[in-house]
Amino acid sequence: MQQSMKLVAGNWKMNGVAAALAEVEALRAALAEAPASCRVALCPPATLIERMARAASGSPIEIGGQDCRAETHGAFTGDLSASMLKDAGAGLVILGHSERRQGYGESDALVAAKAAAALDAGLAPIVCVGETLEQREAGRAVEIVRSQVMASLPLALTGRDFAVAYEPVWAIGTGLTPTLEQIEEVHRAVRSAMIERLGLGISATPILYGGSVKPDNARDILAVPEVGGALVGGASLKAADFLGIIRGA
Ligand code: PEP
Repeated sequence: MQQSMKLVAGNWKMNGVAAALAEVEALRAALAEAPASCRVALCPPATLIERMARAASGSPIEIGGQDCRAETHGAFTGDLSASMLKDAGAGLVILGHSERRQGYGESDALVAAKAAAALDAGLAPIVCVGETLEQREAGRAVEIVRSQVMASLPLALTGRDFAVAYEPVWAIGTGLTPTLEQIEEVHRAVRSAMIERLGLGISATPILYGGSVKPDNARDILAVPEVGGALVGGASLKAADFLGIIRGA
């Protein structure tokens, strides 16, 4: 993962079958005509990784998974290892998304183990952190996010390619976003926790913002100090919307 360009990554979640590859073709064509000034990644459901990697081959679009198991192989029905994602054509993997932390009870320690496994398999992890609405209203956003960063980033990340995504849980899929000042405050706290945990070598590792990023707010959010890109859910499903965000970077 290069460390100076912004990274705009799309998280398709459990959306998309073969017909949706037309969106990748459209994105690819648009980026060929007018190259992006940021890195662009799409993280489709696992069933589409290989086909999407083929559709994006030779283009600047990077492909990622949405989760992986910490173990390398074994009796884990329905799960995927990091090396399976890599083998299918992924170069990145989202880990610790709040939908997994909340829906599957994933702990910081498990996220850290997954991140270490991803590195071992040659994937660049995008480690997600973020506070709930209750935690923000209690004035604990910075404290919560800081502790998630400290406990979810394995020391093995030192000197390696990865990103952190700050995604307030209450902003995901809701149309709500923090103010630009709130985003800056948390991103600065994330940066200082990353440095405390992994040293100054991570000073250029991107910290993405995620949560209701749309074409009409992307430019402002991406201009906030310490915002090194965006993790985009709903607005990454259609090439036109995703491009509107990419053009804001
Ligand atoms: C996400 O799920 O990571 C996300 C940011 O979703 P949305 O952009 O739809 O809020």
